Amino acid sequence: MTWPAMVWIGGAPGAGKSTIARALARRCDLPLHPIDLWTYAHLDRLPPLRSLAEDLAEGPEYAADAFVRSSRLRLELVAEDVRERALGDVPALVEGPQLFPSMADGVDAAVWAAVWLVPDAEQTRRTREERLARAEDPAGRSRLEGLLARDAVLAELIRREAAECGRLVVEVAAEPEWARVCRAVEDALGALPRLPAGAELSWQRRYENEAACRQGRLWQADIGLAELPPYPFACECGTSGCAVTWSGTPDTYEIQRRNGWLVAHSAC
Ligand SMILES: [Zn+2]
Repeated sequence: MTWPAMVWIGGAPGAGKSTIARALARRCDLPLHPIDLWTYAHLDRLPPLRSLAEDLAEGPEYAADAFVRSSRLRLELVAEDVRERALGDVPALVEGPQLFPSMADGVDAAVWAAVWLVPDAEQTRRTREERLARAEDPAGRSRLEGLLARDAVLAELIRREAAECGRLVVEVAAEPEWARVCRAVEDALGALPRLPAGAELSWQRRYENEAACRQGRLWQADIGLAELPPYPFACECGTSGCAVTWSGTPDTYEIQRRNGWLVAHSAC
């Protein structure tokens, strides 16, 4: 298979990957591809998987192993998704806990640069608790301790694989200095080609916003959530470097953009 051009931000859950990737993609006009936004879309294209609860019941090592196995299966789907975006020579900034250092070796030529963020256990706990506070998810709450134990196994695995494969890890402390973490990620990715400003940049931001809508709605239906927590939709104005976001739900996003682009500021 031909792999599309990508740069990777991987790492254990709770390391701030999504926030950093979003900021970086917007500042550098890169197409953003968070694997988590395709979770429900991938379920239909994967062999039946055991539920997270069943995996966790077998213990953290087993659950970590199951996560790695499903992540490997998903990597090909990620490549298909990115290829569909027809980005030409601009690499997609792919981000997610599903990326492991050992996976980069098989797709070396396509992965232009990669970095892994590994958080301190306390930082992971705080992030998971913040996420739970944003949405009424009793099943998620009951899984918290099991997930944290699994996350710790994943964090160790990433450190070990990165050392073996000569890949870069950025440690995220319990009280992270985010500016330093962002700089380290930016340095690791280096200078990259940008999406052309104007219509192309607008279309790619819309594509990302629509993926967030799809995933959000399916998640809402799956766990029976009355209301989704707000999502930071990207401004679709097409101006190079625009990092303004608009916070809302899929429904309010669609109203806000009406029949045009979502413009999240009055300046354009
Ligand atoms: Zn804008």
